[in-house]
Amino acid sequence: MPATVERAPATIERAPAPPDRARATRRRPTPPEQLGELLHEVFRFPGFRPHQEAVCRSVTRGEHVLLVMPTGAGKSLCYQLPGLARAGTTLVVSPLIALMEDQVGKLQELGLAADRIHSGRERGSGGQVYRDYLAGRLDYLFIAPERLGVPGFVDMLSRRKPTLIAIDEAHCISQWGHDFRPDYRMLGERLPQLQPTPIVALTATATPTVQRDIVRQLGLADVKTFIHGFRRDNIAVEVAQLPTPERGALAREILGKPGRLPAIIYAPTRKVAEAVPAELGRGVRAASYHAGMDAARRESVQTRFLSGELDVIVATIAFGMGIDKPDVRTVIHMALPGSVEGYYQEIGRAGRDGKRSRAVMLHSYADHRTHEYFTERDYPDPVELEDLFDLLGPRPRTRESLARRLRIDRDALERRLQKLWVHGGAQIQGDDEVTRGRSGWERSYVAQRTHKQGQLLRIASYAESPRCRMLQLVEHFGDQEDSGDPCGICDVCAPEDCVAQRTRESRADERALLSRILERLLAHDRQTVGKLFRDGFERELARRDFEGLLAALARARLVTITDASFQKEGRTISYRRVELTRKGRAAAEGDASASALNITITESPTTKGSSKKGSSKKGSSKKGSSKKGSSRSSKRKRGASERPDDAALAASAPTELVDALTDWRKTEARRLGIPAYRILTNKALLGVAAARPRDRETMSEVKGVGPKVIERFADDILQIVRDF
Ligand code: ADP
Ligand code: MG
Repeated sequence: MPATVERAPATIERAPAPPDRARATRRRPTPPEQLGELLHEVFRFPGFRPHQEAVCRSVTRGEHVLLVMPTGAGKSLCYQLPGLARAGTTLVVSPLIALMEDQVGKLQELGLAADRIHSGRERGSGGQVYRDYLAGRLDYLFIAPERLGVPGFVDMLSRRKPTLIAIDEAHCISQWGHDFRPDYRMLGERLPQLQPTPIVALTATATPTVQRDIVRQLGLADVKTFIHGFRRDNIAVEVAQLPTPERGALAREILGKPGRLPAIIYAPTRKVAEAVPAELGRGVRAASYHAGMDAARRESVQTRFLSGELDVIVATIAFGMGIDKPDVRTVIHMALPGSVEGYYQEIGRAGRDGKRSRAVMLHSYADHRTHEYFTERDYPDPVELEDLFDLLGPRPRTRESLARRLRIDRDALERRLQKLWVHGGAQIQGDDEVTRGRSGWERSYVAQRTHKQGQLLRIASYAESPRCRMLQLVEHFGDQEDSGDPCGICDVCAPEDCVAQRTRESRADERALLSRILERLLAHDRQTVGKLFRDGFERELARRDFEGLLAALARARLVTITDASFQKEGRTISYRRVELTRKGRAAAEGDASASALNITITESPTTKGSSKKGSSKKGSSKKGSSKKGSSRSSKRKRGASERPDDAALAASAPTELVDALTDWRKTEARRLGIPAYRILTNKALLGVAAARPRDRETMSEVKGVGPKVIERFADDILQIVRDF
């Protein structure tokens, strides 16, 4: 969605009083065991929140630390307190002026000497800050990452090295993170001059991949990683399929019930954000919020929402970074979000006060296609970047002339140029002087693009999975000490409490199928979902309907479904396994037919019975509209190894093979004079790379690979796969 590239506006929200220079002290170091006293005295908190103490001790001892805890968990304290304890200046790298101003203001209110340097401040204020810094009068100095690129700045800092470096919102370092900032990426090059100062990197939103990338980019050899607190016990998460036109009415219905306000609605586009407030009806005070509005209006909407003057804010993702409104009761997503990370951040804004809240995501298969469209647009085919790269040389060219040569509009050029620049293939001097960068940009670009596509598959698979929502989210972030228990309140654990989904009694034909699934499992327990489907049900049932039945069994606690993976030739293949619970076994053995078990079927509000449209994403024909009871015969070979789920597709496609196929496709596209996607779509390319087919038959099973592709290109493709 275009909205995913919007950022929170970097405005100055308030100008705090200048630091109390007189009070600025060079404290004596506090030993790690006595941090509690400093916590009471300076920060005036009664005690540590979970995990804070262990982290603070580690940072105070001078260890490099990566801290991953959700927003609102209290990460700031984990550099602020150790910084004081280490007695010296803590350098804080922060991405947004608003965040910086907010933190500096709070620290100053506590009587601490905090200051900041950023482009939003009046000219000349920097000089005083430099002097204070060099004289050791500052406890904290906040800067934006760009500042470190200003010539001489790091030299200045290194004349008096900070005692601690804190990198807030550290996921911006990683191109796998959802808010990548090239200047954050440069930290790895710029910070060594300031070392051996310990570094603490903080983020609320790093998957294990992003975590590894942060550590690598920063070159932290010995790092302690703390990943905690992703489970939110008070948010009941719900996911429901619903066609787009009906979503507004449902949002209205949901928010119309008592106790559901205040609420945040996340809209996929500005247009939707503008339209929804009216759809909510007169009784609800709602306003939209997006990056297309001017700063003053945005600020006024935000203030009114925070003060309770508005009940609902309808926002693109530009809203929310650094916002702390404790009593949000409902978060609604009007469409499938772009990534699990972003989604988790957004639902996490519900229930900060600890009271029960609900997060509802409305989606449909069409959303996935919309995302694919925007991903294609925002992450252009590498061939297109290559064309731009080829035009560049040592002599500067303007954007205008480049756009003209490529016969594309300025927006399209900017998108390509930005990507090429981020990955080092282009340099931009001054305002508009574009020169050639280094070659070799392609590999990292393709990897980033693949990752982006993988994120979409992952959120789609989350939306469709019949496993406890909270458990899936917690696992996604790799929480270290989580109980692993189902949450008990999401749509999977407690369907009867759903507000968007409806449950109904199962029909006789469904009950017969449910019984058969149980019987099959009794004969052969712990099967993969794919095998169970292929061996027993594929001929008469669409995969999506089968998944629905399985989900119903899981909700009734008759089976459990677990995600699993195995390594195959260096790749991770993911799949799901289904197993009878004790209750399920008793039911199957005791010949209690599923009808006696009172199983309810969950369906979206308007979907009657079985799925209406859209392909089952997990392994049905690519044509998609597999009607209920379709007699579509099985083309797939029995006994073939478990096909990886879509979600695993991108992850399991070896980068080198993706590269090789992309290269080949590029050459072929040139030769034939057609766009690359006409040869093989990205998804199909990824699919081929993941499946590594040995022959035409297995190749034709890859989604997106049609007879035409086979006819024209199978030999080439198979050769590349064999060579790999
Ligand atoms: P994060 O950076 O993890 O999103 P913050 O550091 O901004 O979270 O903290 C969120 C809120 O929690 C702040 O209002 C902060 O003052 C408060 N807080 C942090 N630590 C404690 C504590 N030990 N006791 C009470 N409140 C705390
Ligand atoms: Mg924070």
